[in-house]
Amino acid sequence: MKRAHPDKMKTSLRADDLIFKLLDAFEKNKELLRKAGWIVTDVNSYEWWDNLKTADEILISSILVQMTKWEIVKKTIEKLRELNLNRLDKIAELSENEIEELIKGINFYKTKARRLKKLAVIVKEKGLENLLKDEKALKDIEGIGDETAEALQLFVANLPVFPRSTYASRILSRLLGEEISKQEAKKIVENTIHDDVYKLKLLHAGIVTIGKTYCFSKPKCNSCIFKDLCAYYKHVVKS
Ligand code: SF4
Repeated sequence: MKRAHPDKMKTSLRADDLIFKLLDAFEKNKELLRKAGWIVTDVNSYEWWDNLKTADEILISSILVQMTKWEIVKKTIEKLRELNLNRLDKIAELSENEIEELIKGINFYKTKARRLKKLAVIVKEKGLENLLKDEKALKDIEGIGDETAEALQLFVANLPVFPRSTYASRILSRLLGEEISKQEAKKIVENTIHDDVYKLKLLHAGIVTIGKTYCFSKPKCNSCIFKDLCAYYKHVVKS
């Protein structure tokens, strides 16, 4: 059941109108997204994911990034690329010890070497396309939770899926002035945007950018590009 904020907090804006306003703002603020590591480009490009070049690089980064700074992950991917080991079929043939040596510097590198090896073997056996379409199999892989799985489906397989995320839940809750869960945020977005993969990518990239730039637990509303739209800013910060 939805936990509502006090009625006076709610915005008069409808959720679908809000989604279109956000999309419009993100389209006009691509530079802000770029600074947060999201490259708004051709819908089918892998470069949305901070300029990574291949599906395999995105999958490898999604295992390495947990509890690790993105800059370190990106350097590790570049090193793998130079060694021509930025490919899951090649990683599947390496031993866990060899993978550990390659990814030292990443937090929990031993656990991640094991996870990477498992992922590489599964992809080799099942095929990447089949795996990404099989949501249950994807989410059963160690180290891949709901958000990562759904982000891979969207950004690698171009499936019309909006990833559940804490950022989407927090930001839509604050903008609309009512508590919205991750699942509710996903449903609102998918019911509004349907199967427009470009808009789904843009919205996810934009929302993560706002979450990492302004909308922290203690939000920096005065700098936020959405303060004029935001119920939280209007009723909590300004009042
Ligand atoms: S104005 Fe404040 S609460 Fe609203 S989205 Fe921006 S940072 Fe979050």
